[in-house]
Amino acid sequence: MTVRVKKGDEVVVLAGKDIGKRGTITRVYPDNDKVIVTSTDLINVVKKHTKPRGATMQGGIIDKEMPIHVSNVALWCKDCGATRAGYRFDESGEKHRTCRKCGGDI
Ligand SMILES: [Zn+2]
Repeated sequence: MTVRVKKGDEVVVLAGKDIGKRGTITRVYPDNDKVIVTSTDLINVVKKHTKPRGATMQGGIIDKEMPIHVSNVALWCKDCGATRAGYRFDESGEKHRTCRKCGGDI
């Protein structure tokens, strides 16, 4: 099952070394179903050592956020925690995404 997420969604990581961490999706790669999750917890960040290269590149350690497969993240509901998305239509026929557990909009 593909998790339908979009940029700006708050999610929680379900697998890997960053399990349980929460962050916001800042980039989506639809071609391979991967997302970049940005968090103060530095989700899935690898320390990358670089060597000085020429005059413009400084050596040192940079943080690089790695893509996570969408199946490894779940939408976050402020009331229920990790949840799945449902949908509802309001009186004017507009579609809203909702939490399947509590029914609130997410
Ligand atoms: Zn909920």
